[in-house]
Amino acid sequence: MGAPLRAIDVVVIGAGHAGLAMSRCLSERGIDHVVLERGEIANSWRTERWDSLHLLTPNWQSRLPGFAYEGNDPDGFRTIPETVAYIDRYAKVIDAPVKTHTKVTSVQPVDTGYQVITEERAWSCRALVVASGACNIARVPSLAAAVPARISQLTPMQYRNPSQLDQGGVLIAGASATGTQLAHEIQLSGRPVTISVGEHIRMPRLYRDRDIQWWMDASGVMDERYDHVDDIVRARKVPSLQLTGSPQRMTLDLNSLTTIGVKLIGRLAGIGDGKVQFSGSLRNQCAMSDLKMNRLLDAIDTWATENGFDGKVPAPTRLEPTRVEDSPPLGMNLNSGEIRTIIWATGFRPDYSWLGVPVLDRKGYIRHDGGVVSSPGMYLMGMPFLRRRKSTLIDGAGDDARDLSAHLESYLAGRR
Ligand SMILES: Cc1cc2nc3c(=O)[nH]c(=O)nc-3n(C[C@H](O)[C@H](O)[C@H](O)COP(=O)(O)OP(=O)(O)OC[C@H]3O[C@@H](n4cnc5c(N)ncnc54)[C@H](O)[C@@H]3O)c2cc1C
Repeated sequence: MGAPLRAIDVVVIGAGHAGLAMSRCLSERGIDHVVLERGEIANSWRTERWDSLHLLTPNWQSRLPGFAYEGNDPDGFRTIPETVAYIDRYAKVIDAPVKTHTKVTSVQPVDTGYQVITEERAWSCRALVVASGACNIARVPSLAAAVPARISQLTPMQYRNPSQLDQGGVLIAGASATGTQLAHEIQLSGRPVTISVGEHIRMPRLYRDRDIQWWMDASGVMDERYDHVDDIVRARKVPSLQLTGSPQRMTLDLNSLTTIGVKLIGRLAGIGDGKVQFSGSLRNQCAMSDLKMNRLLDAIDTWATENGFDGKVPAPTRLEPTRVEDSPPLGMNLNSGEIRTIIWATGFRPDYSWLGVPVLDRKGYIRHDGGVVSSPGMYLMGMPFLRRRKSTLIDGAGDDARDLSAHLESYLAGRR
């Protein structure tokens, strides 16, 4: 530090798409603000994703305020360099006041609002928007500590491509979007994959000739509001859909994985003396996932009928139930040499180690009501189901930023 204090109405922390969408909405309202970013614009996409990742949302589904898709492949899926270029271009088009390489090291409440400390200077602001991301840290269960030392362990944030891994078996814990995508790629690289399956959400990529994301968007599923669902705590914990964005528009599910030779096991329950135990719930988890998928497809079919799509799109179909062997194994000896690497695809969490405002719950998440934080003048963006089901996606940031910037504007007006 050392440079003088700068006063500004609003500090936005993070220049991912969420912080930028908020910046655009603040500019539209003529609110003076700065966006502080520890790395480059779209830093998470540049530094924390694996090489082959494509967005699982189609190109048309990255609508940001004042910036819709205008290319000639609306149904394609962006690569990571394309995603970075897209977010970079958005920052330029909206002329966002971003200060890159400016890490926020502390935020404290003060009488006038907040004091935000970076490595170069301190900012004083009347309102604060935390858009620092939901996925800053990979979650690793505590049982990882009991894994024998000869087995390499890594998280999806460290994984780049299969050539990084020893030859030999790979155990992937977690069967949501990340776990299933990595299982597919690594199995095809010649390393036999075993995937540990807990709660997961199965989805067809294409349904009745349209992308599943199109159906969920058109039928209003993605717009469902946080204050209209029965159990928002549970809804915010729902795992990501088993989807991948491939040019072939393939459906990625446990059946497509077992077809190429991936082995399914239950959720990891414990590790001791080099032996790992799996939960016996694999068949139930798969049956439950099939049931939930079919329930969503039923709702889509009802919507399609009510909205005149029958006859214009193919008739409803259902995927074959998930195939699981009758008595899946309940344990494995990690000392046998079969498994050389474990990848923990067990989710992500945010990092608020720099946040000195007392707004965190017991689990370290910011307490908020649809993005309005309990500390006056503080707002949150980019968290799962923040205000709508789509909040976690690039496509969800626009509506959230519009709502929260309106709230923020009246908050500032009330304080004047
Ligand atoms: C593996 C993966 C795949 C995904 N695929 C899709 C997809 O296909 N489609 C989709 O719509 N969404 C997808 N998402 C979800 C979501 O769009 C991304 O997580 C997205 O990066 C979130 O945007 P954000 O702006 O909220 O956070 P981020 O992009 O993480 O941006 C937060 C920014 O804050 C900065 N920051 C953090 N701490 C500080 C600090 N202390 N000081 C200054 N700056 C800080 C970070 O450097 C970062 O640039 C995916 C997420 C993951 C993890």
